[in-house]
Amino acid sequence: MIKSKKQFELLKAYIPGRPIEEVKEKYNLEYIVKLASNENPYGTSSLVKDALIEFLENYNLNRYPDGFSSKLKYDLSDFYDIETKNIIISNGADEMLDIIAKTFLSENDNVIMNEMTFVRYSDVSTIQDSNIKIVRLKNFDTILDSYLEKIDENTKLIWLCNPNNPTGKYLDKQQIKNFIEKVPSNILILYDEAYAEFAEDNTIPQDMIYEFKKHENVMTLKTFSKIYGLASLRIGYLFANEDIITELNKARPPFNVNALAQIAAINALKDQEFVEFVKSENIKQKYYLYEQFKKLGISYVESQTNFILFKTDFDSLELFEKLMQKGVIIRAQKNGYQRVTIGTSQENEIFIEKLEEIIKQK
Ligand SMILES: *Cc1c(COP(=O)(O)O)cnc(C)c1O
Repeated sequence: MIKSKKQFELLKAYIPGRPIEEVKEKYNLEYIVKLASNENPYGTSSLVKDALIEFLENYNLNRYPDGFSSKLKYDLSDFYDIETKNIIISNGADEMLDIIAKTFLSENDNVIMNEMTFVRYSDVSTIQDSNIKIVRLKNFDTILDSYLEKIDENTKLIWLCNPNNPTGKYLDKQQIKNFIEKVPSNILILYDEAYAEFAEDNTIPQDMIYEFKKHENVMTLKTFSKIYGLASLRIGYLFANEDIITELNKARPPFNVNALAQIAAINALKDQEFVEFVKSENIKQKYYLYEQFKKLGISYVESQTNFILFKTDFDSLELFEKLMQKGVIIRAQKNGYQRVTIGTSQENEIFIEKLEEIIKQK
């Protein structure tokens, strides 16, 4: 076989949550509850579907999409009061991580990240042959001082997810702002707030998208996949200093965001009522799951997101398999931990029912 780059020996392909149809067939199940990928169980705004249908009725699919996602950038600019030159759109936030790594990381660069965080940070860094410095969590809390200790003359970028996936824990405004002050300005900070809209605690920073105005090394990443419910269409966005955006655009594939994704995002953004609805339902359901975990004697980590990390006496993969056989898909972690996405009330009830059955059979 033709050899890939040497750093590929360190990589494994990302294993996404199992598709619903596949699990249905394998275990001969009629109904699947998928709580594996932090998707929005309430779908997406009805404005989106209407706009997509209208688009398909009036346009063919033969033309390339707007390569600058101009209309969406204009709308985001309006919505957040940030100039379009400080915005870049990508094929999911995932693609942005890739573009950032391609643009800024090379061999001999160091990046710093948590031991337990979004897996793509480490993969995109490794592909560029950069070195990953891992910071330990303490009781699932991100310890920012440990990041500062890892900084050396080769440090190029800090991957920071807040609230953090998969712990659901968060750093408050003061902690984040103090940290940014202390990081040398030649080190990039990628602040990933994929779940910020779900946060219940109002000490979580909600103004990080403006941070590049004070600190030009800070980039803030957001996505339409989670609270807006557009995971299937792949669209994310980033706010940063104009010079950074200029460089990122050189690495961005010319037509990276398809026309349907652009239309969907433009319309999803219009429906903030839907966003509010999802946020409040998610919080209600979070407390339902807390209660049920308590009743079952299961320990969990309090979350500011649409997922919860919890621990049982089962091996992580064993419980994952047992739940899957009963039609519930979650995401196995390590050392007995699991991550479950907060679903609708019906989905959560089924999840708890199956979990209880498994625990009682032990
Ligand atoms: C889901 C997620 C993303 C990626 O979202 P997409 O826009 O669907 O690619 C980015 N960061 C974190 C932490 C996530 O959990």
